[in-house]
Amino acid sequence: MFKKILIANRGEIALRIVRACREMGIESVVVHSTADENGMAVRMADESVCIGPAPSRQSYLNIPAILTAAAVTGADAIHPGIGFLSENVEFCRMVEEHGFTFIGPTSEHIAKMGDKAVAKDTVRELGLPLIPGSPGIVKTSDEGLSLAKEIGFPVLIKAVAGGGGKGMKVARSADEFKSCFDMASNEAKAAFGNGDVYMEKYLGNPRHIEIQVLADGQGNAVHLGERDCSIQRRHQKVIEECQSPALNDAQRKQIGELAADCAAKMGYRGVGTMEFLYEDGKFYFLEMNTRLQVEHPITEMITGIDLVREQILVAAGGKLPFKQEDIVFDGHAFECRINAEHPETFIPSPGKITRYHAPGGLGVRVDSAIYDGYAVPPTYDSLVAKLIVHAKTREEGLMRVERALDECVIEGINTNIALHQRILQEPEFREGNFTIHWLENLLEKQEEEKRRVAS
Ligand code: ADP
Repeated sequence: MFKKILIANRGEIALRIVRACREMGIESVVVHSTADENGMAVRMADESVCIGPAPSRQSYLNIPAILTAAAVTGADAIHPGIGFLSENVEFCRMVEEHGFTFIGPTSEHIAKMGDKAVAKDTVRELGLPLIPGSPGIVKTSDEGLSLAKEIGFPVLIKAVAGGGGKGMKVARSADEFKSCFDMASNEAKAAFGNGDVYMEKYLGNPRHIEIQVLADGQGNAVHLGERDCSIQRRHQKVIEECQSPALNDAQRKQIGELAADCAAKMGYRGVGTMEFLYEDGKFYFLEMNTRLQVEHPITEMITGIDLVREQILVAAGGKLPFKQEDIVFDGHAFECRINAEHPETFIPSPGKITRYHAPGGLGVRVDSAIYDGYAVPPTYDSLVAKLIVHAKTREEGLMRVERALDECVIEGINTNIALHQRILQEPEFREGNFTIHWLENLLEKQEEEKRRVAS
């Protein structure tokens, strides 16, 4: 087993990994930028190393600085966390080449799944259902247009290197196809340095349902159930829950086993998530994330399995300690992503937190690295806390989330707590009756209402 793990990340997820290390008796080193000197993860880790100035390119994406920190502190393994370098093939390769273990899959698996066009080919062969779309990269807008006519409008043009909803454009008719194609490609080039795009049929009203898998790289894999992440704004998840109110046990078992089987056949190692859209009783594979997800805690709550611990154990060469039949889904869990942003305009709101009180009580977990007097830096993403609740049933869970949101006090900055409270009041949300467009529609209605009152 590893003696010391270097954590190449920041904020709540760095702290989450420090906590797992502590419980496993492994020492932790957190690297940080100058903007994060006072970060909670930096304070809680056994050691910390400043690796550069605030901009990510010079710190959290600075591969030589991270490898040097690992060498200097004598770490055996590197945990990349979420975002930053967690799905970067080059980083993974260099970590291994320098004699450290990458806590995650092999660089080959990251490379295969990181290119979304290759990923789709791979999983198609392994038996996962796909959305009708281009067989691979679409090179020109003319080629795209004739294919779009075959698939049928609307179509979605997506970046092969995509992430966070960037480089994605819906083309609703042949007339607007070329401009959408160029926009998606240019946006992808600007965001990812790779303008290659592919195409899919645009589904009108799907849910986003993803399957958590865990595999040991020795041919063993299990699934840990699904997460319903349909509550989104601008393709970004806002509230996640499990189990999905849309699935029954038979559907859950079927898609879960397909995903686990796919991971086993790939020889995959570590945690991974297969994301699907789900419409009219059918699943369509979107992409596989070869890392931990922000929303992993809800799976932990209903399975009792510590995903970071398991990730570390399999990276160290351990065999999966359980079989599919050992995994029991107990109750219901929700996660609200609390962001430092205005709850209506969504304008980011970095700054000093003047008062903080975290909610508590039975079934409430808060994954956060903020504290009284902490200044949220303007440089990174706006997630400041994840409020996670676990309850016996979905109904109890709804009451518990509401209760916990009411207890939560974060002053000095704006947060989207009021947005969560608003969503929780909606009958459709309470009934579990929503798709990926539901929240955007709700926000639009709210804006219209405001305009009506103003005029
Ligand atoms: P990213 O990697 O940028 O997050 P994804 O492929 O995971 O991109 O898609 C993100 C979100 O975009 C999905 O959760 C869904 O809301 C929407 N989306 C993606 N593909 C489609 C599609 N073919 N039809 C409708 N919505 C889609």
